[in-house]
Amino acid sequence: MADRVIDPDDVAERLAAVRARIASTGVDPAAVTILAVTKGHPVEAIDAAVAVGLDEVGENYAQELVAKHAERPDLDVRWHMIGHVQTNKVRSLAPIVALWQSVDRPSLVKELAKRAPGAAVLVQVNVSGEASKSGVAPDDAEALVERARAAGLDVRGLMTIAEAAPADVVGPQFALLRGLVDRLGLVECSMGMTGDLEVAVAEGATIVRLGTALFGPRPGTAGLRH
Ligand SMILES: *Cc1c(COP(=O)(O)O)cnc(C)c1O
Repeated sequence: MADRVIDPDDVAERLAAVRARIASTGVDPAAVTILAVTKGHPVEAIDAAVAVGLDEVGENYAQELVAKHAERPDLDVRWHMIGHVQTNKVRSLAPIVALWQSVDRPSLVKELAKRAPGAAVLVQVNVSGEASKSGVAPDDAEALVERARAAGLDVRGLMTIAEAAPADVVGPQFALLRGLVDRLGLVECSMGMTGDLEVAVAEGATIVRLGTALFGPRPGTAGLRH
């Protein structure tokens, strides 16, 4: 099956729509970092992101991130790891990743401290309590933040994936994360995806992670990837 071609003009149009969605909440779009989530798309999605002025790129899978970086080693972008990280993948990711968004357990903190000393990280929090989601429970976020700091990592903030649910359910989940970010004296609050962007921004997201909203549906992967 042929990969769908990513047309930078389409991405530019979609980016304008994203900025309008952010502005509809009353928040200045320039105040929110838009992370281009290119997982499941060919490397040309990254070229398109760069062409429209986005310079932060997120991938979910270690192998896919390493492979895409190998195809575009000299691009002036910041690579974010946003998916579950097996500790045995840290070594290959360490020279590439600028922000580790999915730090969810002490063993990963330990491996990062060893292979990527001082790395910038977000602690992932499971705000919905769903068993299918990674992240520490909200009550355990502070302990993992402390542990990461003690290990010399640069804890920039927290990240979450909310439940696929209506705004009245998701809003309080995002508010919970924002409250934790503030209480722990952190800066970054990474929350909001294509489906729940406005709710996240209204609740104080500093980074939104957008795949579908920028690049359209992920090709040929229905049900296989998320
Ligand atoms: C896939 C993914 C996104 C982007 O999802 P879209 O709904 O396509 O915007 C954001 N964050 C994480 C952690 C993801 O896995």
